[in-house]
Amino acid sequence: MLIKYLGVGIWETVVNKCVEGGWIRGDAHDYDAWAKLVGDERWSYENMLPYMKKTETHWSAEDALPATVAAQHGFSGPVFQASVSSTGRKFPLKDNVKQAWAEIGISELPGADGNAGSPLGLAELQENRRDGLRQLSSSAYPLEGVTVLTDSLVKRVIFSKDLYTTTATGIELADGTKKYARKEVILSCGAYRTPQILMLSGIGPEDILAENGIEPVLDSPEVGANLWDHLLIRTLWKLLPSVAAQGVSMGSNNALFTEKEFATGAPLDWVVSTTLPREELIAAIAADEGSEPAADHPLLTQTRTFIETLIIYAAGGVATPAIPFDGSHISSTVIGLMPTSRGRVTISSSSPVDAPVIDPKYFSTSVDKLAMRTGLRQVAKVLLKTNAGKAFCEDEAAEGHKLILSATDAELEARVAALAGTTFHPGGTAAMGRVVDTELNVIGLKGLRVVDASVLPVPIASHLQVAVYALAEQAADIIGRSK
Ligand SMILES: Cc1cc2nc3c(=O)[nH]c(=O)nc-3n(C[C@H](O)[C@H](O)[C@H](O)COP(=O)(O)OP(=O)(O)OC[C@H]3O[C@@H](n4cnc5c(N)ncnc54)[C@H](O)[C@@H]3O)c2cc1C
Repeated sequence: MLIKYLGVGIWETVVNKCVEGGWIRGDAHDYDAWAKLVGDERWSYENMLPYMKKTETHWSAEDALPATVAAQHGFSGPVFQASVSSTGRKFPLKDNVKQAWAEIGISELPGADGNAGSPLGLAELQENRRDGLRQLSSSAYPLEGVTVLTDSLVKRVIFSKDLYTTTATGIELADGTKKYARKEVILSCGAYRTPQILMLSGIGPEDILAENGIEPVLDSPEVGANLWDHLLIRTLWKLLPSVAAQGVSMGSNNALFTEKEFATGAPLDWVVSTTLPREELIAAIAADEGSEPAADHPLLTQTRTFIETLIIYAAGGVATPAIPFDGSHISSTVIGLMPTSRGRVTISSSSPVDAPVIDPKYFSTSVDKLAMRTGLRQVAKVLLKTNAGKAFCEDEAAEGHKLILSATDAELEARVAALAGTTFHPGGTAAMGRVVDTELNVIGLKGLRVVDASVLPVPIASHLQVAVYALAEQAADIIGRSK
């Protein structure tokens, strides 16, 4: 959590909140849906793009790229990007996997670039890495002029009140120490802890505040509501023994992956973004919403990105079945990027030491079930039914589960319920338009803003760090201009 003092390089501190990793911007339609929902074009893709560009340094020189590609990227920002090719990682199955996707109609994007606003298709993985190392935001952005308090758990925001206004004046730490802001307080505790701190400060649903003996400051029923996250399921796949013997997948017997370039990024080539069959999507929305969706339904007006699939040259991260890490298997992840399920974050006590109570309500809508089923069947088809896939993949390793291609909808859903988990992309719990206004001020109070993933009112079909960096950059501009 940060308390920030205007005039002390606010942008550095606001953006120093993101975890490093996959650099995946997402779909322009998602930012546009966000802007439309809150009625403020500053949050559209077009208007977030300058902030995305400001954040990044593309691995390639600007003049070495086609003008249309260069126009989408930054070349002098603090966060360095790297692609599979730019790091010299040459995975033996690269072309086979690409060909397998092509056989089901998914082709490579222009320049294999998924970070240009239209990710539907096959893109080369891009990561936030400099010289092979992941970048922490605290190393990418300078902290000069910023006071950082470590080992300092924030309990609550403190306020002053007069007849008409309640104004945030500072924070209280768990040990009772108080720190006062010179200008305003900005909460950036993430989608789980920001709503917790708001509630501990007396800002939240009246009943929850009362149950936990917290003196109310503002009845704000939407604090903690609207929680969304990207659900992820992994699957293991057995390689043909003759292909495995060539050392194409990471494992204890495979020397290739010990070469130094393979330590510079994840063991995969392609990030594949796909949509859902329209008629099935309409039926799923109708089942969830109780009536046929109108033509201007936000999930139908454009072809939206719903699923991300990664085929990974390593067998790992799956609870069952137990597979030796010997290069005999690969794995896949299917991620639901556009969930319509909404959960809630709440509290169980008035102590900041107690974890917030998180009910993600994953996979509770027909749309989300359709997305996960479709993603699983799609990757099974790519690996087991295409000529290119059959040339390296023998079968699915699905101990204890019905094979994907022969499973019923109910069997697939049971499998997702048993094995899927988070992608660590929660958002939405202090949503813009509900809890904060479009300048990130907590509605109904003075001197308090939220700048983190909790303000994202709708899911972004991405890995969230790019969106959070761009949000923080735009927030810094807004805050700077407001004084
Ligand atoms: C394991 C993991 C891997 C990820 N990998 C990727 C990836 O590869 N690519 C990608 O794009 N995204 C990735 N993400 C997602 C990305 O990191 C988040 O979306 C992003 O960091 C959200 O930013 P935020 O500012 O909302 O919250 P956070 O980055 O979580 O920042 C919240 C901060 O507030 C602090 N805090 C919370 N409560 C208190 C308190 N009471 N007092 C004081 N401080 C407090 C926390 O310690 C934390 O530093 C990953 C996330 C995780 C967890």
